[in-house]
Amino acid sequence: MENATAKKTILIVEDEKNIVDILRFNLQREGYDTVEAYDGEAGLSLARSVKPDLILLDVMLPKMNGFDVCQTLRQEGDNVPVIILTAREEEADKVLGLEIGADDYITKPFSMRELIARVKANIRRTAMAASTDHTNVMAAAGDLTIDTDSCLAYKGGKPLSLTQREYELLTFLASHPDKVYSRINLMEQVWNYGYVGDDARTVDVTVRRLREKIEDDPANPAYILTRRGVGYYFSTKGAVQG
Ligand code: CA
Repeated sequence: MENATAKKTILIVEDEKNIVDILRFNLQREGYDTVEAYDGEAGLSLARSVKPDLILLDVMLPKMNGFDVCQTLRQEGDNVPVIILTAREEEADKVLGLEIGADDYITKPFSMRELIARVKANIRRTAMAASTDHTNVMAAAGDLTIDTDSCLAYKGGKPLSLTQREYELLTFLASHPDKVYSRINLMEQVWNYGYVGDDARTVDVTVRRLREKIEDDPANPAYILTRRGVGYYFSTKGAVQG
């Protein structure tokens, strides 16, 4: 299933035509189909109609900026992997992008090798989520249920709107209950990155977003706990009380 022959489609939303051309060329050479939009509104429209497997999304765009495009898709319940393309200096953009539900970001100017690695990591993750067969590994913990067949998580019987990344992080931690993982471990295992650098903060933001969705009280979490100075783990103790 992971190696399905169907080509994956990547939507490129970027107003600089030369960047679009380079991305299209390199992605197609890697075996992906591409569709392109040169402004935010057209990008949103294509995301809805084409249902791409991944979106590369510039921030500064005509008509509608990349954050608004991403946020709109998330509000509509679309959890397609989104990689934000952001300018190098705009550190705030990275955090904001993750806050509004992007899965990843890459700073311009980027190396094509790094970009392709990120694309592959995010697409592989989606494929893994669809094909990994640990059905009922944790059918239920407290009021939380993960159905690895449909790749959906439920709280109190209601489906949670998780991004692909949030779902993967939850599933990974929950399938290794009470085992503590450092942020670097998690970057390697969940994000599939062979290198980390400052990006470990991505883990913190994703954990915070996940807690807001799965915890009764995100400030006093019962499921995803912090081991101070070490990392994060999925607690079975807190969950049992739920
Ligand atoms: Ca731009």
